[in-house]
Amino acid sequence: MTVFHVPQPEIPVNGSSANFPVHRIYCVGRNYAAHAREMGNDPDREPPFYFMKPADSTVPGGGDVAYPPRTNDLHPEVELVVAIGTGGRNIASDSASGHIFGYAVGIDLTRRDLQMDAKNAGRPWDTGKSFEQAAPISCIHPIAETGHVTSGRIWLTVNDSLRQEGDLGDMIWNVAEAIAELSTFFTLAAGDLLFTGTPAGVGAVVVGDRVSAGIDGVDTLDVNFVQGTSDLFWTK
Ligand code: MN
Repeated sequence: MTVFHVPQPEIPVNGSSANFPVHRIYCVGRNYAAHAREMGNDPDREPPFYFMKPADSTVPGGGDVAYPPRTNDLHPEVELVVAIGTGGRNIASDSASGHIFGYAVGIDLTRRDLQMDAKNAGRPWDTGKSFEQAAPISCIHPIAETGHVTSGRIWLTVNDSLRQEGDLGDMIWNVAEAIAELSTFFTLAAGDLLFTGTPAGVGAVVVGDRVSAGIDGVDTLDVNFVQGTSDLFWTK
């Protein structure tokens, strides 16, 4: 019998030699009213909805990211990422903060044309959201460093030009509420990441573009979009 080595995706933890092992990546859709509107949706407070990305789609620290195949409309979405340190199910929103290990800045990379095709056909979003390198992410900052992050400017520039801007306080469902609702669908575990949605201003990038994303009090993250295939950590 052949035994394969399958590497565990990991994210560096700021101020530590330890890494955060990635279990699952959950993402909240449509969590800022202005972004919901720009996507043609009603931002009324419907319950949050979720999709997932594979753990090995993370790109720790950003850097070069290959422009992915089968798209002509690649959008970076800056998002606050919550790293779960203590799992659970049916978590109450007033105890959700106790399940958080730390925070990071993430980019929910989206093949918008494929996502739109899927939406229009009533099909799953996976090809639009869940491809390789679809989740660049900064290092994780433990709560001991950041405190609980509930407000602050969130922004994204393309070639130094401001594209996205908002405030974490403008989330339709705050982090605690998003964790609570998510934990009624799935059993959360240490190592889970939760991308919490993006503010308004999304748009396309092309090969050669340089994206910077940041959240006040958390971190910044830089990504360069390059032609061809980047080295993927599991092929090294
Ligand atoms: Mn998103």
